[in-house]
Parts: sequence; C-alpha cells; structure tokens
Amino acid sequence: MNIRKKDNKNIFSYGKQYLDEDDIREVIQVLKSDWLTQGPKVEEFENTLGLKFGSEFVCAVSNGTAALHLTGLALGWGPDDIIITTPISFLSTANCILYSGAEPDFVDIDPLTYTIDPNMVEQKTKQLKSKGKKVKAVIAVDYAGHPSDWDALRAIAKRYELQLVNDNCHAIGASYKGDSQYAVKYADVATLSFHPVKHITTGEGGAVLTNNAEFYEKVELLRTHGMTKKQNRLHGRKNPWYYEMVELGYNYRLTDFQCALGISQMNKLDGFLKRRQKIAHRYNQAFSNDERFEIPLTSRDIQHAYHLYPLLVNFHKTSMNKTKLFKVLNNKDIRLQVHYIPIHLQPYYMNRFGFKLGDYPVAEKFYEKEISLPIYYGLADSQADFIVDTINSCIN
Ligand SMILES: *Cc1c(COP(=O)(O)O)cnc(C)c1O
Repeated sequence: MNIRKKDNKNIFSYGKQYLDEDDIREVIQVLKSDWLTQGPKVEEFENTLGLKFGSEFVCAVSNGTAALHLTGLALGWGPDDIIITTPISFLSTANCILYSGAEPDFVDIDPLTYTIDPNMVEQKTKQLKSKGKKVKAVIAVDYAGHPSDWDALRAIAKRYELQLVNDNCHAIGASYKGDSQYAVKYADVATLSFHPVKHITTGEGGAVLTNNAEFYEKVELLRTHGMTKKQNRLHGRKNPWYYEMVELGYNYRLTDFQCALGISQMNKLDGFLKRRQKIAHRYNQAFSNDERFEIPLTSRDIQHAYHLYPLLVNFHKTSMNKTKLFKVLNNKDIRLQVHYIPIHLQPYYMNRFGFKLGDYPVAEKFYEKEISLPIYYGLADSQADFIVDTINSCIN
C-alpha cells in the first residue's frame, strides 16, 4: 500500500465526493444501531430516490454495475437477443449485456450531444431484423449528464417493440424538456451509480428504478439470491422458518449505513448540481468561440447535470498532442481523464466480436479529442480558473 501523500496540496482529479459532518453523523448513528444491513435505511433511501425520480419502484443494490446486471436478467435477455448500446460509456454498460448471455452491438453517437444517435439505432434495428436477428433492447446513456433524445428513442422502441434502458449513472438531476423525472417516464428501467465520482455517493452503490411492478419484483428477488419468504410466492410448506429459492440470484444488497449516507447526500443534491453547473458555465465562457475547442452542448430543451465536463480539443489546431498535454498538466497536479475509450475498441470486444477501428467513426473522433476537466462540488472558482489558465498556457 502506498501511504505517501502530499499534504496541503491540491490534486485536481476529474471528480471527487463531498462529505460533510451531517453525512458522517448519519452513518455513525446506523453503525451504533442494531441494523448494519437490511434495516430501515434501505427502504428510506429507496423512497427518497423514488420521490426525486417520480419512480414507483426503486431497488437499491451494491453498485451501478450490479444494477445493470440485474436489469438485463430481469428483462429476460439471453442468447440470440441483440442489445444495442453506445460505444461512449463505461464498460459496465456493455458488459451487462454479456452477463446475460445476449449479444452486444453498438450504434454511433450524435456529434453534438455525444449520446446514442436515434436515427442510427433505427437503421441498425431494421438492418438486423431484415437478417432475421432479434433486437431486444436499447441501453442509452445520458452521457456526462446530457439527456439522450428520449422522444425519438421512445418512438423507435414502440415501432420495433424494444425494451428501453436508461443507464442514468451520469445524469441524476438532469432534466429533459422541462421534466426532471424523465428517466423512468421514457425508459422501462433506469439505473444509477453512487460511486464517489458521481453526483451523490454511498461509497459503492447503485439502484434500479422502474414503474413496472413485475419487473421490480424480479430485480428485488435477484438482489438476494432469488430467495423469497413472501407467502404468495411460496410453493411449499408455509412454516415460520420456510424460504424458497425460485430464481438464480446474487447478493447485491446495499448496507444500511451506506443508505444512511445516500439519504444524507440526496439532501444536498440541489447544491451539488448548482455548483457543477456554475463550474461548467465558467469553463464554457473560457473555451467558447475558440476554434481549438468544442464545449459541451447546452440547449433550452435540457438541463445538463455535468457529471463530467467533456472538452473537445482540436489538437491539430494546436502545438500540443494529447499525451503531452496529460503529462504537462499532471506535473501541475491536474489529473485529466478521458471518458471514454470507445468500448468496441477494447481488446476483449475486438477479439470476441470482431469490432474494429473505423466501425464507429464519430465515437472514435470524439475519443481523440475528448478530455474531462475537473468538475465537482468542492472545486473553487479560483481553482477552476487556475485549470483554465494552465490549459490555455499549455495549448497555444
Ligand atoms: C459509473 C458508471 C457505471 C458503473 O457504476 P459502478 O457503481 O461503478 O458499478 C455504469 N455506467 C455508467 C455510465 C457509469 O458512469
């Protein structure tokens, strides 16, 4: 373990959590109680999320990847099903398709919103169906906090009878056409992550949100070993100790003290969002109207949640390349990141499915240009300005 740490020195990563004394007090209270897991805080956290998202059912799980895994299982994905998603996301978005035994396919992103391109979703669906293949679902990602084109996706889902999943891990607090509860309205299921870089944190944590009761029951069952004690589900003897396993499930539960942290963090969400939007505004001002840069799209239609601030740099119009920029900024304790390496270019996906460079040119071009600037609640204006000035002095 490396315990060397520079004191009193700011290291700027692309994201980090913000915890205060309230958060800590709430966790300690649970640690002193009788319930460390499966106590009252789990349901309270689920209710808090349900209210915020206008979601009838919420199932808190151990992380965002588990949320996606259970989503695929509960939606009944299996061999011969094709699930379409975006190449610009975290690995889990595509990996959950493989967990269920289904086949992943990708559709390129829209060059302005960086989210999955609905026209190409339709094209691909038509093309696959004409070859007799079964397209079962689309997983869209509200990348960086910018909602996908949900009206178009919903229309396509209806036309081709597709299940629609919103991997909403970036977009807690976003709104679409004036609606901050759009996620479960448009998609059949939405998933969240509470990893420390996301808007709110429980350490590790995630959730599945839906308005579909039947789907929710499946997810809840799978969260705890596929095991039930509910009288109406039991086949056998109804003795007090009796339980039955009716599905092959997992242990994907979230603990009570994590849920206490989640509830406390949710109280601060509005402040978290405002701060992120303010920092983004500062970056927008600094990098707009400059042909070397492209700033993330803002429009009247949507409210951006800015989980990330993806700045596109036209490196060919600068004296820098990306590798060098990373090195120079790293020496000044600005740790940039890139979100993401297109998933289809990961060796596993290339080797197993034959994806190759050139398959999704918009995503690939995006990847060449993208850098994620630090954006999080604790980042002060002066620090954001320091980051802007440093980048400007490097790229000239
Ligand atoms: C963070 C993230 C995940 C995975 O969440 P974990 O809680 O880290 O498992 C999945 N999809 C997207 C888009 C994410 O950003």
